[in-house]
Amino acid sequence: MTPEETLKQIASEVAVCQKCTLHHSRKNAVPGEGPANAEIMLIGEGPGFYENEQGRPFVGAAGQFLDELLAQAGLRRSDVWIGNVIKCRPPGNRDPLPEELAACEEYLERQIAAINPKIIITLGRYSMSKFLPGAKISAVHGQMRRAGERFIIAMFHPAAALHQASLKPTIVQDFARLPQLLEQARAALARSVPTPRLEAKEAPKQLSLF
Ligand code: URA
Ligand code: SF4
Repeated sequence: MTPEETLKQIASEVAVCQKCTLHHSRKNAVPGEGPANAEIMLIGEGPGFYENEQGRPFVGAAGQFLDELLAQAGLRRSDVWIGNVIKCRPPGNRDPLPEELAACEEYLERQIAAINPKIIITLGRYSMSKFLPGAKISAVHGQMRRAGERFIIAMFHPAAALHQASLKPTIVQDFARLPQLLEQARAALARSVPTPRLEAKEAPKQLSLF
């Protein structure tokens, strides 16, 4: 399967998934979207009200702000892949439960293996703690860390910056550095021995970052 086909396959599985109880209350699952060859994957928490209505990630107020942040970095939404650690909306936007995160994890792992991005940007604490366990967002935001054959950048969640005005300049500055960080990531990965894609597809667990 090509990466495009793999992503389509995952999206069709997610649409009918019943692996956790969130499937009872969802209107639309939100598998995530973007090009299969994206260099950057942005990974948020989970669908909110509007995402559940539309089946698309980051389409509410936080999503509009995210579009602005990307535009400042010279990126369009269509240049990046955008998704979440949890694919179905928790009722009333409550935090996802550990068993829900565990049930859903497989989909994101397969999406990452198919896309093989240079940079993963985490948005929010559930996404950050998956890729940078134990990290504190106030200490690590905007910094790029290598994780095997890719890099991780934890950013404040755009919704947090909308609710807490003091965070706004910080998140804006962090996103403004993205072009420079992408250049660094490209250069560093070009120097390192490439991992054959076949291996990446056959061993997604191993590739899963650490
Ligand atoms: N917040 C998220 O974390 N994800 C979305 O898709 C929308 C809002
Ligand atoms: Fe399946 Fe994930 Fe939705 Fe749970 S949240 S039903 S595991 S797609």
